[in-house]
Amino acid sequence: MAWDFETDPDFEEQLAWMRIFVREELFPLETLTLTPRQLARALAPLQDEVKDRGLWASHLPPDLGGGGFGQVKLGLMHEILGQTPYGPVAFGNNAPDSGNAQLIAIGIESTGREDQREQWLAPLLAGEIRTAFSMTEPGAGADPTLISTTAVRDGDEWVINGHKWFTSNGSIADVLVVMAVTNPDVHPYQGSSMILVPAKTPGVEVVRDISTMEDPVEHFGKFGAHAEVMYRDVRVPAGNLIGREGDGFRLAQQRLGPGRIHHCMRWLGQSRRAFDMMCERAVSRYTHGSYLAEKQTVQNWVADSLAEMTAARLMTLFAAWKMDKDGPAAARDEIAMIKFSGAKVLYDVIDRAIQVHGSLGYSTDLPLEHMYRAARAARIYDGPDEVHRVSVARHTLKRYERVDVPSEHVPTRRAAAMVKFANLLDEVALEG
Ligand SMILES: Cc1cc2nc3c(=O)[nH]c(=O)nc-3n(C[C@H](O)[C@H](O)[C@H](O)COP(=O)(O)OP(=O)(O)OC[C@H]3O[C@@H](n4cnc5c(N)ncnc54)[C@H](O)[C@@H]3O)c2cc1C
Repeated sequence: MAWDFETDPDFEEQLAWMRIFVREELFPLETLTLTPRQLARALAPLQDEVKDRGLWASHLPPDLGGGGFGQVKLGLMHEILGQTPYGPVAFGNNAPDSGNAQLIAIGIESTGREDQREQWLAPLLAGEIRTAFSMTEPGAGADPTLISTTAVRDGDEWVINGHKWFTSNGSIADVLVVMAVTNPDVHPYQGSSMILVPAKTPGVEVVRDISTMEDPVEHFGKFGAHAEVMYRDVRVPAGNLIGREGDGFRLAQQRLGPGRIHHCMRWLGQSRRAFDMMCERAVSRYTHGSYLAEKQTVQNWVADSLAEMTAARLMTLFAAWKMDKDGPAAARDEIAMIKFSGAKVLYDVIDRAIQVHGSLGYSTDLPLEHMYRAARAARIYDGPDEVHRVSVARHTLKRYERVDVPSEHVPTRRAAAMVKFANLLDEVALEG
């Protein structure tokens, strides 16, 4: 019987190294205010170390330049890396670059366009270029069938017009992956495509980095910011199409499945960090005659948080396992479930950790307030939680049929049982 929760010893060794590396090399960087150039300099030797251990860009199969880990291993890795925003960057698998590399790789697989490997995939995997994923528009978010950006074929070029926003890393990207309608005469599922647009192409205007709850101070050109981008008569070669014309939604699904597993495991890494802070505070803070650890409410928060994190972790690794075994389509409901439940666990655990720290938790002397603001977005990006709930409920309810009498109606079941066991009941009655 194959039902195993163990990690193979070689990979466990790598995970153990990652835990120490992240804590000792990356956590300290968080406390410094570095310019993008200073940060790149600080990260370069660390990235070399990661490459030496064979852990760089491990999200792709080896023939496509990656480490060839399945989703379970990647999930375990992301749980460690997700503790700090610098983790995925140091390991060459940060969003949106990792997902975009996957997109290009899937496109090459389906079209055999080897030139795209050299032009885009290789420099992306080497960390030489940065990308962004430009799908959401001010008028089309949770429902991407409403996208109005168009790409019209003109000879050997695509001409793109549209208005996007929340393009993460859009202001620092070298290349933007743009989702556009290429055939308005069919359903968007068949009529949308993804096209690679170099950021310096005439007509691309990065209007601004949108100030957000996580990062309310106005700035431009910051890693992790979310850009508003105008595309006005942007001309790119026809060969910049990813996959085939009309593949946009299919590609988006393939990209988002693994991405959600990585997000959820990163959230669990963040949750664990907040949880550890909460427990440390609980055993350290004395008030009203006892340590916080001895107050029942705090004990409830500790126990509930641990149970919720454990449940989310098992669900996420199960979704990863199912995806490795049967592919992203088979794991669709599991992926949707971890998206909304994982986002809630993250939010709740950080919230409790702040509460246990009181004013200190609310202050910028601890990372909790920033984690809390960032966590709020998890309920919105990658599809709002409500959309995932609707999807899970719809698939689940399809498996049920309408009835006049509930299947578990006791009087009805009793009548049926009396018929089924009539002989037995007669014998028992005769025995008195
Ligand atoms: C931090 C962050 C980073 C992002 N990065 C990117 C990126 O890199 N590239 C990109 O293209 N986009 C990105 N996005 C955009 C993200 O994908 C969208 O925000 C998301 O798809 C929701 O779209 P919307 O914000 O337009 O909300 P809307 O579509 O306006 O939805 C608003 C709300 O309506 C409700 N709702 C919507 N549909 C349903 C439904 N079917 N049933 C019930 N309730 C529903 C939900 O509560 C939802 O929150 C990012 C967003 C955030 C916050």
